[in-house]
Amino acid sequence: MTQASAPVRWQETPPPQDLSYIRAVWPKVNQPINGIILCQRPTGCWGHPIEGENFRFVGCIGKDEGCDHCAYHRPLRWAGYVSILDPKTGRIQLACLTKEAAKNCPPLCDKRRQLRGMCLHLARAGASKFGRVHAEVSTGPAGYPLPKPPDVAHRLLLLWGLYAKWYDIADIGGAK
Ligand SMILES: [Zn+2]
Repeated sequence: MTQASAPVRWQETPPPQDLSYIRAVWPKVNQPINGIILCQRPTGCWGHPIEGENFRFVGCIGKDEGCDHCAYHRPLRWAGYVSILDPKTGRIQLACLTKEAAKNCPPLCDKRRQLRGMCLHLARAGASKFGRVHAEVSTGPAGYPLPKPPDVAHRLLLLWGLYAKWYDIADIGGAK
């Protein structure tokens, strides 16, 4: 078989992940998160923890802008998001940080640190699903091919269903 004569679009590497399906992941009991960091710095914001079968967090747009969770008097907390590549699956994910996890991990708090290419390890301590989240940043593998970092704030607005409130709905699902 000669590739040059076949009417097929050959491509050595797979296409990049469709970021429409990017997930925000919290470490669960006995399910730590390990990945190579794609962004330079975490994206942090204030929002509401939502307790359900799986813990979620939704950014707060403020009571005056119609935040449903403020209306229910849900507590306001800080969370940080770090885009990572899971080297086992090759998938891009948004790893979630609690305030304590970020505070106790100096590289995550130091605004001058460039995190891209380093490894992030997140684990939940103890046996409770509300156990403390512990974060560690360590040296990453040299020469590992990394995809472009996703626009984390844009992805979060889409995940939270807040994007359409402010932006043209036709943009949703864009490759940003
Ligand atoms: Zn709110």
